[in-house]
Amino acid sequence: MNSVALITGAGSGIGRALAKKLASEGHIIAAIDRRDDGLRSLADEIAGKPYAWAIADVTDPPALIVATRELEAKLGPIDLLIANAGIGAETSGLNYNIDVMNKVMTVNLLGVSNSIGAVLPGMIERRRGHLVAISSVASYRGLPRMLAYCASKAGVNAIMDGLRVELAPLGIDVTTVCPGWVRTPLTEKLEGTLEHILEVDDAAEEIVYAIKNKLAFYAFPRMMRWKLGFMMMWPRSWQDWYITRTMNRIKMVGGES
Ligand code: NAP
Repeated sequence: MNSVALITGAGSGIGRALAKKLASEGHIIAAIDRRDDGLRSLADEIAGKPYAWAIADVTDPPALIVATRELEAKLGPIDLLIANAGIGAETSGLNYNIDVMNKVMTVNLLGVSNSIGAVLPGMIERRRGHLVAISSVASYRGLPRMLAYCASKAGVNAIMDGLRVELAPLGIDVTTVCPGWVRTPLTEKLEGTLEHILEVDDAAEEIVYAIKNKLAFYAFPRMMRWKLGFMMMWPRSWQDWYITRTMNRIKMVGGES
């Protein structure tokens, strides 16, 4: 593999682990994040492999397009987009804060849409490419205290499902990835029982598996996928009971992560 992979949110967590894994497998890495520190240190970690980075906020479409074009000028056209940048913040009905609601949905949903918008016209012109979005198992249904996060990820799934059907005849693949809990700075502020939590390198391995096999939809780890798949067949009232029990074991300390 030596296609050019554009990864948003590549300076930290899952994006960073994916950049390292894909670079080790021969991909050329184009990295975007909103801060430069993680991107610079990533350059040291994947030294010797083709890599370029640019600063852009995924909520700013013109800046994202400029950054993408800069990276393409250095590395070549983007073959693989991994729309990964995202944030988490407590959003509860008991303290409904529209600013936080809007921020989470803007980064996690519009950010993915903006990232797709920056690369898709080129992919259509070339009749090849692969769009990957890092959604979450939290997209399956609304969860207490994670209202905006769940809504944003459900929205991502919807965009990706529609795109997959439209783009298949053009030779462009579309993959939605739904990780369960992964140990990254995003989950650092959560205390309690995070069931089946994965180390970030193991999560990157799962995601690369989905990418290589061009899966339409991939949720992991397996045990989480089975449990949630089973739960989603229950009536809503049973689901609510189960969700209350599970979510009561998790506490968020601090603000946005
Ligand atoms: P992370 O370690 O916080 O990494 C996210 C990266 O995205 C950070 O570098 C962050 O920059 C960047 N970012 C945030 N907002 C941005 C913006 N507006 N523009 C550009 N970059 C931005 O979190 P992670 O756990 O790796 O999460 C990566 C993705 O996986 C997210 O979409 C998340 O929802 C999803 N996910 C995570 C888990 C989990 O348990 N960790 C589970 C399921 C899905 P800053 O450091 O400046 O914020």
